[in-house]
Amino acid sequence: MKPITALSVASEVYPLIKTGGLADVTGALPGALAAHQVTLLTLIPGYPAVLKAIDKAEPVHHFADLLGGPARLLAARKGELQLLVLDAPHLYDRPGNPYIGPDGNDWPDNAQRFAALARVGAELGQGLLPGFVPELIHAHDWQAGLTAAYLRYSDRPGPATVFTVHNLAFQGQFPHELLPVLGLPPNSFTMDGVEYYGAIGFLKAGLQLSDRITTVSPSYALEIQAQDAGMGLDGLLRQRSHHLSGILNGIDEAVWDPATDTRIPAPYSTRKLHARALNKAALREHFGLRSETDRLVLGVISRLSWQKGLDMLLETIPVLLSEGIQLALLGTGDAELETAFRQVAQSHPGQIGVAIGYDENLAHLIQAGADALLVPSRFEPCGLTQLCALRYGTVPVVARVGGLSDSIIDANEMALAAGVATGVQFAPVTADRLAAALVRAHALYCDRPVWKTLQRNGMRADVSWRRPAEHYAQLYRALLNARNPHVAM
Ligand code: ADP
Repeated sequence: MKPITALSVASEVYPLIKTGGLADVTGALPGALAAHQVTLLTLIPGYPAVLKAIDKAEPVHHFADLLGGPARLLAARKGELQLLVLDAPHLYDRPGNPYIGPDGNDWPDNAQRFAALARVGAELGQGLLPGFVPELIHAHDWQAGLTAAYLRYSDRPGPATVFTVHNLAFQGQFPHELLPVLGLPPNSFTMDGVEYYGAIGFLKAGLQLSDRITTVSPSYALEIQAQDAGMGLDGLLRQRSHHLSGILNGIDEAVWDPATDTRIPAPYSTRKLHARALNKAALREHFGLRSETDRLVLGVISRLSWQKGLDMLLETIPVLLSEGIQLALLGTGDAELETAFRQVAQSHPGQIGVAIGYDENLAHLIQAGADALLVPSRFEPCGLTQLCALRYGTVPVVARVGGLSDSIIDANEMALAAGVATGVQFAPVTADRLAAALVRAHALYCDRPVWKTLQRNGMRADVSWRRPAEHYAQLYRALLNARNPHVAM
C-alpha cells in the first residue's frame, strides 16, 4: 500500500477545542488512519484555547496580510495529533465559543475568519510548505467549505478534495459583497460555484466544488437528497449523488469504556452486568428518584433543541407516569424546553429528575446507571450518545432517522429470534409513536433474559473508529486512483 499524505481542515479538533461531534471526528481520524498508511495533519485556527494547549509550536510560515492582518502558521503537536495552527490574532484571539461573541450573536467577521482558514488550507495543498505537500485535503463543515473554492479558482494545480458535512443545518451564508474581500473572483459567483440564493454559501461551495462529499451516516446521506431533510441543498446533493456517501462515526473507546471508567462508582463489563445496580443507585440518588426496585430508569443526555425532539417527550410524560418509568434527563439549550423540563421535575419528584447544564461526569453516570437511553431526534446525522449507550449496556430507544437507524438494531421478532437486536426504534417521529416505543421498551425490560441479551448484544457491537477509518482510507485511495489512474495507490 502506498502511503498517503493528507491535510484535514477544520474549525474544531478534540481535545483542543470542541463544541460538537465535529471535534470528535477530526480528533479521532488521524490516529485511526495511521493504521492505513495515511498521515493526516490538521489545520486549525489558533484560538486562545488552542495556542495554550499545544506543545512545542514552531513558526513555519508568515503571512504579511491574511484577510486584514499579519498571521503565522505554527507546526505543533498535541499527543498524537500533528497540527498546523493558524495564529492570526486579528481573527481568532477572542475568548469563549469559537463562533459566537459575548453578546450571543455570531462574530460579525465570521466570513473572513473562516475564509482565512480555508484559504491557508488551499495554499498548503498547493505546496506552501516545501516539506509538506498533501495529495488530498479533507475539509469539514461550512467553516472549511471555501477550501475547494480557493483551489478551483486558482490557476495552480491542487490536491484531491473530500468534504464532510456533519450537520446540514449549519450552512455559513454571507453577503455577496464580500466576494472581493475574501479574494474570490467574480466568476466564482455562479450557481455551479459559491453562489447560494444570492449570497456566498460556504457549505454550498464545499458540497459543489469538492471531488467527494461524505456525511456521517449512510442513512443521512440518503435523507439529505430529499426535500424534507435537504435544507435547500437537496437538488445539489441529488446531482452529486454519485460522489456522495455516508460513513458512520465511531466513539473514543478509551473515554467511553465501562470497564475502566473512573467517573462512575462501579465499573463493569458484559460478564459483570450486575455491578450496574450500584451505578443505578448512585444515579437515582443524584436525581432524587425513588429507589423502587424493578422500575425502568430512562436516561436522556442531549442538547435541548427542536432537532432533538424532546418536546415530544414532554407530550408523553403521562405515558411515562402510567408505565411507572423514571426519567433522568441532562441537557441544556432552548430556554422554553429548559423551563418545561424543570417544571415537570417539580411536579413529579421521585419519578422525574432533570439536570439543566453541560456535565460530562453526569453524562457518564447516566450511561452507566440508566436502563435505557432515549434519543427521539427529528433528524440525526450520526448521533454519538446512542453509540456510547451501546457500549455501556444502556438499551437505546431511538427515532428511526439518520445515524440512529444505522447504528441500532430494532428488537423486532426476527432480530430477537436471530439474537442480534440492540434497542428499540420508532417511526414516524411523532409523540404517539414515541409513547408506543416507551411502552414496548418497558415490556422488553420486564422480560429480564431478553433485556440482558439486548444489553450484551449492544456491548459487543463495534462502535470504535476501526471500521470508519477503513472506509475513509478506501475513499481516499479510490479518489486518488481516479485522479491518477497510472499510479496505483
Ligand atoms: P450533537 O448533535 O449535539 O453533536 P451528538 O449525539 O452527536 O449530538 O453528540 C453529543 C455529545 O455531547 C455526546 O458525546 C454527549 O454525551 C454530549 N452531550 C450532549 N449534551 C450534554 C450535556 N448536557 N452534558 C454533557 N454531555 C453532553
